[in-house]
Amino acid sequence: MSARQLVERFGSPLYAYDISTIGAAHADLTGQLPAGSRVLYSVKANPHPELIRHLHRLGCGVEVSSTGELDAALVAGVPTGDIVHNGPAKSRAELEHAVNAGVRLFSVDSAAQLRALGHVAAQHDQTVDALLRVNGDSHPAGAGLAMTGTSSQFGVDAAVLRADPGSFRHPHVTVRGLHFYLGTNIADEAALLDVFGTAMRLAERLREVLPGSLDILDLGGGFAAPYARAGSRPRYPGLRRALTDLLDRHMPHRPAVCFESGRYLTAECGRLVATVQDVKESKGRTFVLLDSGINHLGGMAGLRRVPPLMPELSVTADDRTPVTCDVVGPLCTPLDAWSRRVELPRPRAGDVVEVPNVGAYGLTGSLIGFLSHEPPVEVVLDGDRPLHVSRLSLVRSAHKEV
Ligand SMILES: *Cc1c(COP(=O)(O)O)cnc(C)c1O
Repeated sequence: MSARQLVERFGSPLYAYDISTIGAAHADLTGQLPAGSRVLYSVKANPHPELIRHLHRLGCGVEVSSTGELDAALVAGVPTGDIVHNGPAKSRAELEHAVNAGVRLFSVDSAAQLRALGHVAAQHDQTVDALLRVNGDSHPAGAGLAMTGTSSQFGVDAAVLRADPGSFRHPHVTVRGLHFYLGTNIADEAALLDVFGTAMRLAERLREVLPGSLDILDLGGGFAAPYARAGSRPRYPGLRRALTDLLDRHMPHRPAVCFESGRYLTAECGRLVATVQDVKESKGRTFVLLDSGINHLGGMAGLRRVPPLMPELSVTADDRTPVTCDVVGPLCTPLDAWSRRVELPRPRAGDVVEVPNVGAYGLTGSLIGFLSHEPPVEVVLDGDRPLHVSRLSLVRSAHKEV
C-alpha cells in the first residue's frame, strides 16, 4: 500500500509494519548462523505483539528486559519456556512478576542479582536457570557502541568471575551457561566474526571456573540493519562456515548456541508516514514542518545514538525543483528536527513523507511523552492486507496507594 493510501485510510502520522518481509530477514539470519543455532528476538527493537507473534511462529525465542516487554511477549502468545529475561538492574518486583509468570531462564549481571533472583525463586518454591552475562576483557575492534571490554554496567567482569566464582551460587539458581553481547550494528563480517570469536575464546577460558555447566552459550548479536534511510540489511556470506569452525575449536562439547537480534529481523519491515503541514522560509532557509517529529522517531538522536534521518518524499515530484530544507516536527523545541539542509523536491503542504527502515527502534526509541501529542497509529500489514491497527496511549491512572 502506498504511503498516500495508508494516510487516506488510517490518518497521519502512522507507522506501517509489513510482516510479510520478516520471514526473509529471519531466513537470511538463520542461514548465516551455524546449523541448530537458536535465534532470540530482542523485544527492545519493537515490542509490538503482532511482530513478536510472527517472529515466534517463525521459530524465534524471545529476549525481554522489562515487565512491559515480558507482558508484550505473553500477549503475543509466547510460552514462558521460550523467553529469556535480561537486563542489568532487575528489581525485585520485576523478578517476582517474571517468576510468577513462569519465566525460568534469566541472564544475570552480578552476584547480587543472582542472589536476588534466587531469593525470589525460593519464595515461589522454584529453581530457575541463569546465564551469567560476561563483560569481556577486551573491546573487539569495530564492535560499535562500547558495551563490553571497558568498564560497563552490563555483565560481570570476567576477572570478577574468575576471582570469586563461588559468589555466583544459590541453591535455587542453576547456572546453565554464559551470555555475551559484545557489539551492535556491525555491518562488516570480519568485525562481527571477531566479536563472536572473542566471546567464544572467553567462554572457553571461563568454562572451568563456572559454578555450573556450560550447556547454553548465548553469543548475543550485533547484526546490522539500515536505520531510517534507504538500503538493505548486510549479508555475511562467510559467517556460517567461520562460526561453525570456531565452535568446533572452542566448544567441542557443543552447548546449545543462541544469538540475539532486534534490528536485523525487524528494521526493514517498518516505515513511518507523515504529512507536511507547512513549508516556510526563514532568513534564507526553507523549513518543512511535519505532523511527526522526534516524539515518534529518532528521539535517541539527541543522545547521538542514531544518525541524522533522511526522510524520503514519497510523492513523485518530478516537476519540482530540488530545494535545500530543514525537516522539522511539531514539538516546541528547536531540537525537533529530523534533518537539516537536506535536498528534497520542493515540498508542499499536504505532501506525504515516508521514512523507510524504521521497524526497529522507531516508536520505541522515541520521546512519545514529550509535548503530549497522540502517538501515531501502528498498522500491521501482511503485504497489502491490514491485519492489525492500533494506537498506543499514555494514560495517567491513580496510584493504588493514594
Ligand atoms: C539491544 C540488545 C539486543 C538487540 O540489539 P540489535 O542491535 O537490535 O540486534 C540484543 N541483546 C541485548 C543484550 C541487547 O541489549
